[in-house]
Amino acid sequence: MMNRRNFLKKAAAASAMAAAATMIPGILFASDQEDSNLSGDINWIKGPCRFCGVGCGVLIGTQNGKAVAVKGDPNSSVNKGLLCVKGYHQIMCTSSADRLTKPLVKKNGKYVETSMEEALDLVASKMKETIEKHGKDSVAMYTSGQSTIPEGYVASKFMKGAIGTNNLDCNARLCMASAVTGFLTTFGADEPMGCYEDIEHANVFVLWGNNMAEMHPVLFSRMLDNRLTRKNVRIIDLATRTTRTSKAADKSILFKPQADLAIANAICYELINNGWVNHNFVEKHIAFSKGKTNIGYGLEDKFKFKDKAEPIDFDQYKTFLKDYRPDKVEAITGVSAKDIKYLASLYGNPNLKVVSFWCMGLNQHTRGTWMNNLVYNIHLLTGKISQPGNGPFSLTGQPSACGTAREVGTFTHKLPKGVVMNEKHRKLAAKIWKVPYERIPAKPTYHATEMFRAVDRGDIKFIWTQVTNPLVSLPKTSRYRPAMEKDSCFVVVSDVFPTPTSDVADVILPAAWHVEKSGMYGNSERRTQYWDKMVEAPGEATPDAWMTIEVARRMGYGDLFPYSKENHHEEIYNEYRQFHVGKKHNMAPVEVLKKQSGVIWPYIEETGKSTQWRFNSKYDPACDSTKDFDF
Ligand code: SF4
Repeated sequence: MMNRRNFLKKAAAASAMAAAATMIPGILFASDQEDSNLSGDINWIKGPCRFCGVGCGVLIGTQNGKAVAVKGDPNSSVNKGLLCVKGYHQIMCTSSADRLTKPLVKKNGKYVETSMEEALDLVASKMKETIEKHGKDSVAMYTSGQSTIPEGYVASKFMKGAIGTNNLDCNARLCMASAVTGFLTTFGADEPMGCYEDIEHANVFVLWGNNMAEMHPVLFSRMLDNRLTRKNVRIIDLATRTTRTSKAADKSILFKPQADLAIANAICYELINNGWVNHNFVEKHIAFSKGKTNIGYGLEDKFKFKDKAEPIDFDQYKTFLKDYRPDKVEAITGVSAKDIKYLASLYGNPNLKVVSFWCMGLNQHTRGTWMNNLVYNIHLLTGKISQPGNGPFSLTGQPSACGTAREVGTFTHKLPKGVVMNEKHRKLAAKIWKVPYERIPAKPTYHATEMFRAVDRGDIKFIWTQVTNPLVSLPKTSRYRPAMEKDSCFVVVSDVFPTPTSDVADVILPAAWHVEKSGMYGNSERRTQYWDKMVEAPGEATPDAWMTIEVARRMGYGDLFPYSKENHHEEIYNEYRQFHVGKKHNMAPVEVLKKQSGVIWPYIEETGKSTQWRFNSKYDPACDSTKDFDF
C-alpha cells in the first residue's frame, strides 16, 4: 500500500495544482493542506465531491455561514487528500450571481417570480389535472445520476408507488445503459465486482478508449504512483486519438473508430490459440451464449428486440472467433497483428495482474453493450476477475450514477431492488412503500430518449426534470427542444442555474446545491458516502427530495411521505436500506456512514467492514464458502 505522503508528493498533477492554488484564494490544494494558514476558525466538514463518479472525499471549509475553502480529505481511501481541478472548484457556484433563488412561473410568455408554496401548488395541481384528464402515463419525471440517493428514492416512490406509472427515467440512461446491459447480459446482475484498491495490486492497466489522465485524473494519479513505486507496471492506452493519457502510457495503440470490437475478439482468439485460457475457471463458472444481433437503430421510435441470446458451447465460440485472427483484423482495426498479440500476451500471462478500465469511450458507442461484453469475455476466459488487481472496471461519469440511478433504480424498468417486470420485486416494493401491489405496473414504459419522443408525439403532457439539462445532453435536441416548447406539454424544471432546458419550462424551481442539503452518493466502486448540510441555500432554493415530497403531499399522497423537513434524507435512506437487507446487498447504517469516508456495499454487519471484492469467497462473505467464486 502506498503511504499518503508519498502519494501526494509523487502524484504528477499535484505540483501543477499547488502552483495554481496561490492564484485562486479559497482553494486549498492537497500539497498545501498540512501547513495551511486557512485553518484558524474554519470549520471543515467532510463529504464526497459533487463532480464525478470517482467519488473523491472532500473537506469543505465553512466560516460565518459560507463555504469558503475546499481541500481533499486525507482520510478518504479514494483520493488520499488529492483532488482534481473540478473538485477544487465545487463551492464556487454557491455564491454565483446567476443562481436561481426564487421560483419562476411563465405568464404570457414572461417569467414572473412567485413563492415556493405557490409554485409547488401549481406543479401539484397541473400534475393532478393531467392525470385526471389523460391518465397516469401522461405524466413523467426525468432525473439524474447527480440526484442524491434520497432524491432518487422519493422520485421512484412518488411515480411508481404513489401515482402508479413507470414514467421515470434519468440521464444515466444516456451514459450508462450499455454498461448496465453489459453487466446484465454477461453476469445476470448489474453489480460491479472490484474496487479502486485494484490499482495498487495490478501490474498492467489496459485503458479501453478511456482518457483517464483528463477525465478521471485522481485515479490516473494512483496508477502513476503505482508505476513509480513498483517494478514492471505498465499502462497501455487503446484509443482512437492521442490524448494526455497516451503520452503518459507505456504504449499507445491507435485504432480505427468502432474497430475495438474486432480487437477484443482477436485478443480472445489469441488467448484460445495460445492455450492461455484458464480452463479450470471457465469449466466451473462460464456458460457460453451467442448474443442478440439485430439491435435496431438508435434513432428509431418504439424499437422492440425480436431475437434472443442462444446458448452455444466452447467449440462453437472458438469457431466464431476464426474470423478474428490478428493478421485478418489488421486492415479493419489499423492495429498491427504484433500489437494485438502483445495485448493478448499480457492478458494471457498468469503471472500478471490486469485491470481493464473504461468509461464513455466504450459506453457511448454504437455497439456499447457488445464492447462491455467483449472486455468481460477477455477477463472471464483468463479468470482474471474479482481478485485484487485483476478485473474489468467500468468507471462512471456522474457522482451517483451507480448509487442513485442504478442502485436506487431511477429507470422505467427498475425498482429500489430488482425490476418492475418481476412480481416478487413489485411485491417487496409495495410492502415497504405500503401501497397496493397492483398499483406498480409490471411493464416499463419509456426509456430516456423514448420519453422525449413521447413528449413530441403528445403522449406525455407533463414532465418534471430534476438535476439535469436534457436540452444539452440529449441526442437530437433539434427534435426535443421544439417538442418541449409545444403547448401540449407542461414542463417543470428544478435546477441550481438557468439552463437551455429551463428556457422552455412553464415552472422553474430553484434547487439547493449539494453543500446546501444533506445526502448520500454512491460512486463507481459501490462506495456509499454521506454528507451533512454545510451552509444555507440562497433565497428559496430547496433540496429536490423535499420539493418532490411537497408536491406528493399536495396531490393527496401525504401518508406515503411522512418524512420530516430537517431529517428527511436520513429517514428516506433508512427506508431504502430495507430493500437491501441481507448479505448480498447490505447497505451501511447512516451512523456508520457519518463516521467514515464511505462504505463499499455489501456492508458486513459482523465486522463493520466493506466488501471490496465480490463473488470471490476469499473476500466476500455473501459467497457460498464451498466454492472459490460464486457469481
Ligand atoms: S476526480 Fe472526480 S470526484 Fe475526484 S475531485 Fe475530480 S471531479 Fe471530483
